[in-house]
Parts: sequence; C-alpha cells; structure tokens
Amino acid sequence: MVILGSTGSIGVSTLDVMARHPARFQVAGLSAWQRIDELAAQCRLWRPRHAVVPTDAAAARLRALLGPAEAEVEVLVGEGALCEMASDPEVDSVMAAIVGAAGLAPCLAAAQAGKRLLLANKEALVVGGALFVQAVRAGGATMLPIDSEHSAIFQCLPPDASRWPAFIDRIILTASGGPFRTRDPASFTDITPAQAVAHPNWVMGRKISVDSATMMNKALEVIEARWLFDLEPSRIEVVIHPQSVIHSMVVCRDASVLAQLGTPDMRVPIAYGLSFPERIESGASRLDFSAMAGLSFEPPDATRFPGLRLAYEVLSGAEGDSVVLNAANEVAVESFLEGRIGFPHIHAVNVATLAALAGAGRPPASLGDLLDLDARSRDVARRHVARLS
Ligand code: NAD
Ligand code: MG
Repeated sequence: MVILGSTGSIGVSTLDVMARHPARFQVAGLSAWQRIDELAAQCRLWRPRHAVVPTDAAAARLRALLGPAEAEVEVLVGEGALCEMASDPEVDSVMAAIVGAAGLAPCLAAAQAGKRLLLANKEALVVGGALFVQAVRAGGATMLPIDSEHSAIFQCLPPDASRWPAFIDRIILTASGGPFRTRDPASFTDITPAQAVAHPNWVMGRKISVDSATMMNKALEVIEARWLFDLEPSRIEVVIHPQSVIHSMVVCRDASVLAQLGTPDMRVPIAYGLSFPERIESGASRLDFSAMAGLSFEPPDATRFPGLRLAYEVLSGAEGDSVVLNAANEVAVESFLEGRIGFPHIHAVNVATLAALAGAGRPPASLGDLLDLDARSRDVARRHVARLS
C-alpha cells in the first residue's frame, strides 16, 4: 500500500485500520505536506521503502528525525516522486488521501499504472472528470470509493459494474447539514473559522469541514458520484439527514431502496476499500439501535446552502466548469480560514469565478490542460478575494 497524505485525517485512519491486520498489509510509501514529525513517527513504525515530502528542507528534517530507520526509508521530494511512488510496479494499492486538486497527478499516475485506487481525494476526480475515468479504464485500474456516501452506494450495488445501469433508478446522497443547519442565515457573516470547522458528527480535515458547513462538500460529492457511477445528474439527489446514520441510498429500478448504515467513522469505508470484496475489522463501534432517538430527513434549503446547485450547473455546462468551481472553492475556503473573507463570501467567490471563466476555451484534453485551467481559475478567484478583503 502507498498512502498519499498519510498524516491527514484519512491517512491516519487508514494506518489505524491496517495496523489491525499486520499480516495482511505492508506499507510501501507514505507522504506528507506538513507535520513532518508525524510522518517520521509513521516511518519508524511502518518502515516504508519511500517517504515523500514537498521540499529539500523538509527532506533534511525528516532524515534527521528518522534515526536508525533512515537506512531503510528513502526520502524523496516533490510531485514527480509522488507519481513515481503511486505507479511503482511493486505497489498493489494506493490510498489517495491528499486534499485538493494537488492530488490529481499522483491519482492519474496510479490509475494509468492499473493500481487498486482507494479514492478519498474527491477534488481529484472532480477536476479530472472524464480524463480520470478514461485513465482508470485504459490502465485497467480498480477505483474504490472511500467517501462515506459513495462507499455506501458502492456497498448497495452489485460488485459487477456492468450491471449498474439496469439496477439503478436514482441515488440519494445523505448530508448532515453541517454546523449551520439551523443557525439564522442573517448571522452567517459572523461565522468564524473555528465555528465552521466544528462539525457535529464527523472529525475531518479543515478544508472538508468548511465544505460541509457550506454544503459545497455535497456539491463536490454530486460531481464525484456522476463520475464514479456514470450517472446523469438528474439521477443524483441530496437529502439532509442530521443523524448521519444512513450514509446514502440507492433507489432501484423496481422502487426498492437500499441503504448502508453505520456509526460516523471513516474507518468503515476505509476498511471496505482495503478488503473489498471481503470484510475486515475496522475498529469502528457498532450502531446502538436502542439508543437511537430517531432518523429524520429534510430537503436541503437552497437559500441557506446556495452552493449545492452549482454542482448541477457545472455538470450541465462546459467540460472544464467543474475545474473552475473546484479551484475557486479551494481558494475561497483557504481565504476564509486565513480570516481574509467572510463565510458567505465563499459562495460569492465561487459564483464570480464561474461567471468569469465558465465555458472558457476548449475542453481540457490532458493533465496539462486541466492544471492550466485550474491555475487560471485560482488567479481569478484570488482577484475576487482581494476585492472582498
Ligand atoms: P487533511 O487536511 O486532514 O489531510 C490532507 C493530507 O494531504 C495531509 O497528509 C497533508 O499533509 C497532505 N497535503 C495537503 N496539501 C498537500 C499538497 N498540496 N500536496 C501534497 N500533499 C498535501 O484532509 P482529510 O480530511 O484527510 O481529507 C483528505 C481527502 O479525503 C480530501 O479530499 C477530503 O475531501 C476527502 N475526505 C475526507 C473525509 C474525512 O473524514 N476526513 C471524508 C471523506 C472524504
Ligand atoms: Mg462524504
């Protein structure tokens, strides 16, 4: 296994599940962007062949921290090294747990090399779109969804994907509604980064936590589902389910509805990705039905969560529009976390960037085209941020 982004929330949970099955898994490679101390501790424990960091300075620091493990772990630098590690012939599976479009290149490398690709990094699929799916097909890779909603749907479907079109009528992605589901929208301008990252049900990285508060996370997940399950957007619905017990549902052709349930613990979808088609112990606690007060559902409020509709807009627009939306949102969330713009400005930046660039240019035909459009969109988004701050 290679774990890209091993020091993040998903990376740490992945190693936690793997540690429960020492005879089953070996770590071939790890990577981190920050938290080099934590990466060093992981390397000392798991002794991977490779560890990848972003800079020469980080590499020197990691080598110094490794101690006796230094002889076994080769420390490499940069995106090229991530791609090499993800396509190494000795590697079977790659957990893609980097956050943002930064994870796209190594994901594509793993797909082209025919790996078993455990995909948590939803932004990579949102940005990669049709090119990503083609790379998986051409490389003979297997893509296993790790996002809890998409894992839930995958768990409800027959293992043979050729049967999915005849099986699925619609899918229903559940959403918790995040920390501001009942907060007065008039006070959204007062929301602080600390309030936005305090998710009621899930403990996650900062970026996805803010996305959950705006429901842009669900927008990205609608786009992710479009590519994972090859579904027209009109067949992808979203319902708010504050208890996060049902992780998503499939409405079958015969009107039967299948759901996957569990405690909100990412180790469940991670364990399924690691062991598919088998099941292994994940470490998650079991649902206690006797303690459950009830399950409730409500439609998402479009005024409170205006970002959700952007998913459907970009999916019916030009091929590069998802790239523009994702880039704008990454810039907007970072700017919000840095205290430079207010919470409602995140949506404003996304809308303004889309208005400037949607439908711009020819459809992206290569990784280079995608990264080009991503960079141009970030520039436009940054200019909007500067105007607002
Ligand atoms: P995180 O911020 O906790 O971790 C991100 C990891 O990526 C870290 O190891 C970090 O060092 C690395 N990283 C950050 N920027 C990088 C860059 N530019 N280049 C290379 N590496 C970089 O994030 P997370 O919550 O673990 O989420 C990871 C991905 O999984 C995201 O795409 C997220 O949407 C998805 N996901 C997370 C959860 C969850 O519960 N945390 C659930 C579903 C999906
Ligand atoms: Mg999710």
